[in-house]
Amino acid sequence: MSVPSPGSLSSRLELSASAFRANVAAFRSTAGATRRVGAVLKGNAYGHGFSEMLPLAHAAADALYVITPGEGLAVRAFEAQQSAARRDVLVIGATSAAEVVELAEAGVDCVVADGSYDAAVPLLRARGLEASVHLHLDTGLGREGFTRQQLEAGAADGLAAARDVLNVKGVLSHFANTEDVTEQSYASTQLDAFARSFELLQQRIGLPATTQRHFAASAAALVLPPSRFDVVRVGISLYGLWPSTETRLSAKVVLGELPALHPVLTWRCPSQVVKWLPAGSYVGYGCTWRCGSDTRVAVLPVGYWDGYPRLASGKAHVLVNGKRCPVLGRVMMNHLIVDVTHAVTNEAPLVATLLGRDGDESISAETLAGWAQTIHYELVTRLGAHVPRRVVE
Ligand SMILES: *Cc1c(COP(=O)(O)O)cnc(C)c1O
Repeated sequence: MSVPSPGSLSSRLELSASAFRANVAAFRSTAGATRRVGAVLKGNAYGHGFSEMLPLAHAAADALYVITPGEGLAVRAFEAQQSAARRDVLVIGATSAAEVVELAEAGVDCVVADGSYDAAVPLLRARGLEASVHLHLDTGLGREGFTRQQLEAGAADGLAAARDVLNVKGVLSHFANTEDVTEQSYASTQLDAFARSFELLQQRIGLPATTQRHFAASAAALVLPPSRFDVVRVGISLYGLWPSTETRLSAKVVLGELPALHPVLTWRCPSQVVKWLPAGSYVGYGCTWRCGSDTRVAVLPVGYWDGYPRLASGKAHVLVNGKRCPVLGRVMMNHLIVDVTHAVTNEAPLVATLLGRDGDESISAETLAGWAQTIHYELVTRLGAHVPRRVVE
């Protein structure tokens, strides 16, 4: 059974289709016309909503990257239902041998990152299927992928004999340290390692020199031109968010001018009640806030269950009528209480903006994440999948 749907007074996410398309266009112009732009849809499309973002990403991007086999199959189901042309889809996450077979059947590519591909070979042969795979090379992240030492020890050599069922379509790697710095010396060592391992694969398994290569996520695609190769795998920035302040600074230096990235997501919540609390009233669990004067508060039916971080208690504000309204006391599971004394003139129902623009003010995902001592990647991916989402132009 899925989670029962929230009521009509719940918070909701608005997703801007035009912002998304503009972000894809920004990457097309930055990466150059000959390079393909791929969209990363993992983490419920960075919390924006997989099913809402898929039609937009499918229409605008050249390739789709997902983390689970289920997401890959969902793309094929979407295409079948829409009679849409097939996009290249790559499952970059872990897959079992049985899942490799299932993906091969659906024409979804998957990653070979270690010796476990062995187990899929007889299953594919038995079914007469060929899987398109991308070899993941660990060039310095220490996560999935063949290390240089593993390649030298022959960990990928079996691919040569499995050519009938495993078609090596691409080779990829992932950076460890592009968004945390403004100089890319560590990334350069990863690029070198990538080139050397690619050569080694040419020698050991006869990998053609023309095999597709891809390495860059958002930050590298923006600030490290040699990393762009054949296709860039852009996640966070297609949703209109800069990977980091360092990336933004570097982009200004590397590109001369900053590409405009437009946040796709706006998060709003209608009030449950607006009322006056007399001076001296306590607000919220733990009585951590006490009203110094008569205070008009709005109770918003949204809380940490929906993804509003509890660590932002005592720091955050929301926007009402373009004005900042502090969150009073603790963020609760299903409620926020905000001070709207000066933002409204009566106790009529109102709508608060938790993320996004309202008039001249805006609250970015970076800002809310900062209040909660985390990063915007985590903040957005934790937005509750149950929160209603709507695509707007
Ligand atoms: C998450 C991820 C990306 C996208 O990263 P962003 O920083 O969000 O652009 C690309 N490639 C791999 C392998 C990833 O795991």
